[in-house]
Amino acid sequence: MSTGNEVFYHVCKKCIDENPGSSCCRGSSVPLTVKDIERITALGHNPEDFVIAGEYGREFVEGYEKWWVDSFLKHGEFYYKTNTRTRENGECVFLKHGVGCTLGEHRPAVCRMYPFWVNEEGHIVYEPDERESCYIPRKKYSVDEGLEMLGENEDRVTSFFREIKHDCENNHEAHALVLRPRLPDRADLRPALAPLTSCGKS
Ligand code: SF4
Ligand code: SF4
Repeated sequence: MSTGNEVFYHVCKKCIDENPGSSCCRGSSVPLTVKDIERITALGHNPEDFVIAGEYGREFVEGYEKWWVDSFLKHGEFYYKTNTRTRENGECVFLKHGVGCTLGEHRPAVCRMYPFWVNEEGHIVYEPDERESCYIPRKKYSVDEGLEMLGENEDRVTSFFREIKHDCENNHEAHALVLRPRLPDRADLRPALAPLTSCGKS
């Protein structure tokens, strides 16, 4: 059976092996959709081993599009998202040296999209990334070249984007069920399942 790594890792493996700083699989924790969690669990992984409540400060959450901001769970002074677990060295638990992502075609939708995003006009663009972690935009390849290098195309990237947006807009309670037992026990806890209403651009 194809693992899907054959296409993905001719450039990503190079990036992970050569980039001493961060890559998308190292130094960041990836948001998971409900579908991602179900798909990865169906492969035999235990959610206890790969899902965490990723914690974000207000300065990170503010300024993004409303549907994205609304998808965070507010708890005390922080905002939470169902994210992938990382090891102590900051690597994703699914990253294997010399191999790359062990999930192949089953990796989360955000990972399938990265380093791309769909802007408000519906165009595929590179995600702004101050760390310049991705080999492809860092080396100044065009979006079309980047898509080809990752074996992706506009339709698939757009469909991953739609999956993420649909998840953000419709799965608040499902995410809250996963997040609640994983939240830190803060003294300033207050029930905050209502979506945020005022931080987004739109
Ligand atoms: S799930 Fe795979 S592609 Fe996504 S961050 Fe982890 S190792 Fe990288
Ligand atoms: S998507 Fe970009 S940052 Fe992630 S492993 Fe591939 S080349 Fe590196």
